[in-house]
Amino acid sequence: MKEVSLLAGFFLLRKKRTMAKNEFDIIKHYFAQQQLQRDDVALAIGDDCALVNVAADYSVAVSTDSLVAGTHFLADADPAAVAYKALASNLSDLAAMGATPAWVSLALTLPTIDEAWLAPFCHSFFELANQYNIQLIGGDTTKGPLSITLTVQGLVPRGQALTRSGAQVEDDVYVTGYLGDSAAGLALILGQQDCDAHLAATLIERHFKASPRVSVGEALRGIASAALDISDGVVADVKHIAERSNIAIEIEVEQLPLSAELLAFCKGDRQQAQQLALSSGEEYELCFTAPAANRDALKAALAHTNVKYSCIGKVKAGSGLSLLQFGKPLTWRLFGWDHFVVKDN
Ligand code: ADP
Ligand code: MG
Repeated sequence: MKEVSLLAGFFLLRKKRTMAKNEFDIIKHYFAQQQLQRDDVALAIGDDCALVNVAADYSVAVSTDSLVAGTHFLADADPAAVAYKALASNLSDLAAMGATPAWVSLALTLPTIDEAWLAPFCHSFFELANQYNIQLIGGDTTKGPLSITLTVQGLVPRGQALTRSGAQVEDDVYVTGYLGDSAAGLALILGQQDCDAHLAATLIERHFKASPRVSVGEALRGIASAALDISDGVVADVKHIAERSNIAIEIEVEQLPLSAELLAFCKGDRQQAQQLALSSGEEYELCFTAPAANRDALKAALAHTNVKYSCIGKVKAGSGLSLLQFGKPLTWRLFGWDHFVVKDN
């Protein structure tokens, strides 16, 4: 009984904290204004639930991520950048599954109804959403400490989703784009390192404006054996493929794709650039495995995406991750890791 009444009290408290006065005006004015209207959305914002139609031979890929002020971004961060990051990181999860973005829900908790914050937030959110053909179909708006929770949904032909568990011994290991630029941008933002203003602007832009690799994910259906997106650094993330697929992965650090800007930032110090490339989070590049027999198919499939990709290693029997340089175990230590051969515990 006590628990029930406690729960009821909590519920009342929660109800009181919702923004009754202006909530509906805000929803109508800001969130129901997206240009893009998809044909498969039967009912969007305004009812108790949204209704979407799914073709029989498709699966829906669903992913949720929260961004909390003070944890994932500073409370006074540019609202346009916060909206971009929130949606781009969720789109990147869909890309990693080989899913095509379709629908998104937005649960927003705001300390006050601040239109100077909401207007740029929504403008940036819808700009990116329209670009990726994803429609905002619902959400919730509540008063409280600033936080943003998105649930994205995407479509993938049944049986073709890219999971983390399909890597096979002797598969190649690939990444898209360049690695390390986002970490260099973050080091500049935090004032940990300096460089000339033009280079700094480029790297900071790469930190804030990473492109979700949706077209690559779609093109990898039926070609890649496993995939994920790099959100915590390739060393940390690739271990998930090793664990889920019950295999080992070897990465050759000399094959890591380093941009000219990163090498300039590191003043030609390749080892620092490789350190950054291995540990840089929030890259939102894809890391995937594919059988050697699919090399030509991969080249053909990715040609139209105009996204660079590089082979950085090999799948082996066993477990864990080994870092090699010129085919031999690394002789230097990766920052933040106790051992240069990183094994699963
Ligand atoms: P309910 O009380 O039934 O949960 P709400 O008053 O919370 O309804 O929301 C009304 C409508 O507005 C719903 O369709 C909901 O999905 C939508 N909505 C509320 N907040 C947001 C938001 N931040 N973004 C998009 N849609 C929202
Ligand atoms: Mg609600």
